[in-house]
Amino acid sequence: MKHDSRRRPLVVGEGRISGYLSITLGVLSTLAVLCFLFPDALTTPELRAGYDLGWMRVFLGVGMVFSAGFGVLTFVLGRQRHLGALGLLLTGLAFWLGGTGVQVGPRYTAPGYIGLDWFILDLLGSALIFVLIEKIVPREPGQPVLRPDFWHDARYFVFNHLTIGIFIFIGHVMMPRLFAWSINADLQAWFRDLPGIVQFAVILFLADLVEYAIHRTMHEVPWLWRIHAVHHSAEHMDWLAGSRLHVLEPLVTRALVMLPAFVLGAEPGPLLCYVIFAGFQAGLIHANVGLRFGLLEYVFTTPRYHHWHHASDREAVDVNYAAHLPIIDRLFGTHHLPSRRWPDRYGVIGEPLPKGMVRQFLYPFRRRAT
Ligand SMILES: [Zn+2]
Ligand SMILES: [Zn+2]
Repeated sequence: MKHDSRRRPLVVGEGRISGYLSITLGVLSTLAVLCFLFPDALTTPELRAGYDLGWMRVFLGVGMVFSAGFGVLTFVLGRQRHLGALGLLLTGLAFWLGGTGVQVGPRYTAPGYIGLDWFILDLLGSALIFVLIEKIVPREPGQPVLRPDFWHDARYFVFNHLTIGIFIFIGHVMMPRLFAWSINADLQAWFRDLPGIVQFAVILFLADLVEYAIHRTMHEVPWLWRIHAVHHSAEHMDWLAGSRLHVLEPLVTRALVMLPAFVLGAEPGPLLCYVIFAGFQAGLIHANVGLRFGLLEYVFTTPRYHHWHHASDREAVDVNYAAHLPIIDRLFGTHHLPSRRWPDRYGVIGEPLPKGMVRQFLYPFRRRAT
């Protein structure tokens, strides 16, 4: 059955790996061309400011060449020709829309945007970096890339990335309105005079304090737990598992963790470093990575640290809430990191969550089974 073939582990030489790569790169190339055509509606203003158009065209060209190459390879390997055909069709579509020679579309003031560029860059970056690390130093060597629920979490990845623009937009609009009273010009001037690395460290610490408070509240208030339980329903940990989030969770968390940086008036440089660091760490701590981090394990949260947070072992219920710095869990007595051991299993204890994104979205609003 079609469903089953998507879930079978990938085998080298069969044509599915090259087929999936061809389709993925074909989709991303087409989306990238659309980003050129409709920059204001489809790209993130903060990222757009840092792009070099020449290099973006080179990346697009490389993506299209690899997409076509993997498509042809799939044909040569023979058994999955429909995947190769789709990949080649998508590369053709990117080419037809303008390819690397595409002109930047007319500019206008968009009321909001879809962060397609962030989706493309994060998917390419995360998949390349984390799948590679997971293959080199896996925590669970037998876990395939297409592990159970891979496609379920992939849907969350797509959905959460495409809606991030809405969250950032709400944050931009709401934050100045709700917290304008907290702005102090002297405090902001003093903070901006601090070295960038100090600003980064302060933002990281304060954002994690906020994150800790929200995260712990979500575990301790029963209705909020039903929202956060979606994240904890993952039974297989890897770079993609962290994407499984009920849509209401990032809506609250992403806006509030930025509050300290907003109040302190942080410089754009340290702020961007924080956003990149937080994004990378979020992928890493969920990843199927068994790397030993030595002394760093005391300073930053690691895969083993956050895997204990996801454990359904009794010893590890409601521990390790911090997203970046374990010291915060130590301060509040919720730190749990047995030396060198990993959890036995992951997931929620008790009532299992329904399967599927829509059912999981509705889960917190449903009457509890008695
Ligand atoms: Zn949690
Ligand atoms: Zn997590």
